[in-house]
Amino acid sequence: MKLLFIVMDGLGDRPIKELDDKTPLEYAHTPNMDKFASMGMNGLLHVISPGVTPGSDTAHLALFGVDPYKYYTGRGPFEAAGIGLEVKPGDIAFRTNFATINSEDIITDRRAGRIKKGTKELAKLLEKMEIDGVKILLKAGTEHRAALILRGDGLSDKISENDPHVEGKGPLEFKPLDDSPEAQKTARILTSFVMKAKTLLSNAELNISRESQGLPPANYLLIRGAGKAPKVPNFEEEYGLESACVAGGGLYKGIGRMLGMKIIEDQRLTGGTTTDLSAKFDVALETLEKFDFVFTHVKGTDNFSHDGNPVEKMKFIEKIDEELYRFLPENFKNDLVVMITGDHSTPCSFKDHSADPVPVVIYSPDCRVDKVEKFGESYATDGNLGHLLGKHLMGIVLNELRLVHKFGA
Ligand SMILES: [Zn+2]
Repeated sequence: MKLLFIVMDGLGDRPIKELDDKTPLEYAHTPNMDKFASMGMNGLLHVISPGVTPGSDTAHLALFGVDPYKYYTGRGPFEAAGIGLEVKPGDIAFRTNFATINSEDIITDRRAGRIKKGTKELAKLLEKMEIDGVKILLKAGTEHRAALILRGDGLSDKISENDPHVEGKGPLEFKPLDDSPEAQKTARILTSFVMKAKTLLSNAELNISRESQGLPPANYLLIRGAGKAPKVPNFEEEYGLESACVAGGGLYKGIGRMLGMKIIEDQRLTGGTTTDLSAKFDVALETLEKFDFVFTHVKGTDNFSHDGNPVEKMKFIEKIDEELYRFLPENFKNDLVVMITGDHSTPCSFKDHSADPVPVVIYSPDCRVDKVEKFGESYATDGNLGHLLGKHLMGIVLNELRLVHKFGA
């Protein structure tokens, strides 16, 4: 038996007037999700805890059975892992932007004109740097994004950022956020690294040529989101499932990588609202041939919610639904457990995450069916799963996979 776990980011919502007082999910025409709801078990998921608004990072940890209160140390380590850096416990990881600074030390573009090409070569110029015995690893991601790791003894994540978050100002100083010698050392290393990087980047051929073309050079690094890499449980060892992650966004790949899942790298996988959903679910289907557990993440639902656009969110949910026919019992050749939910609610009226629980459906070939016939926030209240915590989801689904998590004789 295999397990497909679909997470639609920011899925949950509130009733909206222009959608006949239904949520985007309830208003959407979703025959496939409704089929899973009618054949499966439904409930409402408090991803972290009732009344607590999840971030996408803490939410996914909880969904994979990893208690974020115990293991979460900031977003940096997951972003770094998502970009492809090998993150080791104890590393201090940061989110980083290539940016543009002028001769008066003013940040004129926080994203270096959303530079498309060449940041990998720029990152190479800074490769294998070591300051005070601390190794510095920088890896470029998409466009202006990069990740930075400090690896060594006596470091701290209690450190402020240098990103002023607005253009037309100088970069901020790195400041220790406590009195520890570790935080002071970390501030010194970052300050020295950023100065060296500025010189090397300013002299890079690519940047000289960008300037001559009137493009903003990627000659500075803005560094934020410090986090000490946690030692998280290994998902495969924990559950005995060979696991894979099908996602476009770096954060989701990073969480999967740190939990020990195989990250499917495929050019067809992209994130956001323009993602090719048909390709993504093709990849998920192919991945199910080789793995027991396939986590598939779709981001667009959250983006439309942050934009406050319920109609586009509703249409996007319909597009996702169209691709789910592959996994219906009549179409999938083996026994498959399907679990569908969101990582949190992002009501279009909030344009931000909320603590509202999200609907969840678990279908397995012989599960105990409830009376719910459609997938949606209000319908799920009648389901036999009741109200659940995110961290209990894996246990419930293991029971469907007949993998026993037993307590007691
Ligand atoms: Zn999210």
